[in-house]
Amino acid sequence: MPEYDILLVGAGAAGLLAARTLAQAGRRVAILEARNRPGGRIHTFTDHGFTGPTEGGAEFLHGDVARSQALLLEAGIITHDTGGSNFEAAEGKAQEAEGFFIEDMPLLLQKLHSLEHDVPLAEFLAQQFPDEQYRELRDTVTRFAEGYDAADARRASSFALREEWSGNGAEDSPRPEGGYGRLIDWLVQEVQAAGGVLHLSTIVEEVRWQAGQVEIKCQGGPTFLAAQALLTLPLGVLQAEEGTAGYVRFTPELPAYRAAAMALGVGPVIKFLLEFQEPFWQAPSAEVGQPMPEMGFLFSDAAVPTWWSQFPDTRPLLTGWVAGPAAAALRETSEADLLTLALDTLAYLFGSTTSFLRQQLRAHRVVNWGADPFARGAYAYATVGSAAAYQVLNQPIEDTLFFAGEGLYEGAHTGTVEAALVSGETAAKRILGQ
Ligand SMILES: Cc1cc2nc3c(=O)[nH]c(=O)nc-3n(C[C@H](O)[C@H](O)[C@H](O)COP(=O)(O)OP(=O)(O)OC[C@H]3O[C@@H](n4cnc5c(N)ncnc54)[C@H](O)[C@@H]3O)c2cc1C
Repeated sequence: MPEYDILLVGAGAAGLLAARTLAQAGRRVAILEARNRPGGRIHTFTDHGFTGPTEGGAEFLHGDVARSQALLLEAGIITHDTGGSNFEAAEGKAQEAEGFFIEDMPLLLQKLHSLEHDVPLAEFLAQQFPDEQYRELRDTVTRFAEGYDAADARRASSFALREEWSGNGAEDSPRPEGGYGRLIDWLVQEVQAAGGVLHLSTIVEEVRWQAGQVEIKCQGGPTFLAAQALLTLPLGVLQAEEGTAGYVRFTPELPAYRAAAMALGVGPVIKFLLEFQEPFWQAPSAEVGQPMPEMGFLFSDAAVPTWWSQFPDTRPLLTGWVAGPAAAALRETSEADLLTLALDTLAYLFGSTTSFLRQQLRAHRVVNWGADPFARGAYAYATVGSAAAYQVLNQPIEDTLFFAGEGLYEGAHTGTVEAALVSGETAAKRILGQ
């Protein structure tokens, strides 16, 4: 008899919450995780010379994310509001920014609301705002969808962006105290306390299945057997072509599932984490010509366009962000070159020099999620074909194979930890027949 009832693939937020739900209901579960750590796209680290917990992946709670908030409460983890001043910088000049960053938002929303059929964002903009006078609007809106949603405007759903932007505005985006990694540590303890087993450094290569039986083959030889499997592989991994890093084989193949995965969108992000000796951006000095006191977020026209501080926390950590097609173009760039790009960008934005910033640098790390074989992207965005694709991917196969994860979530919180938690828990309950 197999040792486990259910095998889970992936120890991210989705896999861990699903495992807890199943283990607490008495199922014998094992999680197979490729990395040498749990958490997946939640990765809070304290090594590499950083002086505190630093988020390589998820960092904020975006909007009204009920499941995440309830779970954090259960885990005894409080959250802290972000804050500070927002700045915009263009052509070397920075200024404090107020309100919406898209000046023509009312007109944009009006046109979006009059759309009858969903089309990709790029098509919508070309149809509704074709003239030269709207060039800036087109560029800003495209940059926004690419930068925030990591989306490719040629595929992103106008309807989904309409939803997102209609509710846009005031809400804060707090951070869990000590980082999202604490939630992962707590979930692992919960899974283990309920009898679940976590196998780290266990790279799934092939899922062989027939009704009522799954055999999972891992790199280096280990094989696991169970009656059912729940796969929380990232969408980028489900989309991987045979022969590329991270590809997982299904035998027999699942052509309808693969086609559905391909119809969804997932975009890359590169996150730059730079901790300095001092918060040099707070005040003018001989080396810093354009300070930005109490900076929260900075949006710019630079190569690494978005930056934020830890405000109100005073730790001198700046986080840089490149997403969407711009991050895809940098996928193969070395970490050393990406660091130089980030420092050159900061020198340009703050009226400083790269050599001064390099001297000031205490710790650094560049996390290139598009190049990570076990993520192959940062998070999902809705495409015009999403609704039909979700239907396929969320349908169990022969009551034997189940899928879950951030990329398969269908609600209002696309691309978030909330999406992963809800998707994982929903799939576990489906397995339990609830
Ligand atoms: C840079 C970045 C910033 C983000 N910021 C935020 C934010 O501020 N707020 C927010 O809510 N969300 C944010 N997100 C999104 C959030 O991190 C994800 O939606 C969520 O963590 C995904 O959880 P998951 O369990 O679905 O997938 P994952 O966490 O990716 O888990 C899947 C697991 O499967 C494993 N795996 C892959 N291949 C194999 C294999 N062959 N064998 C075994 N295991 C395998 C992976 O290693 C991984 O651990 C961010 C993501 C990124 C990348």
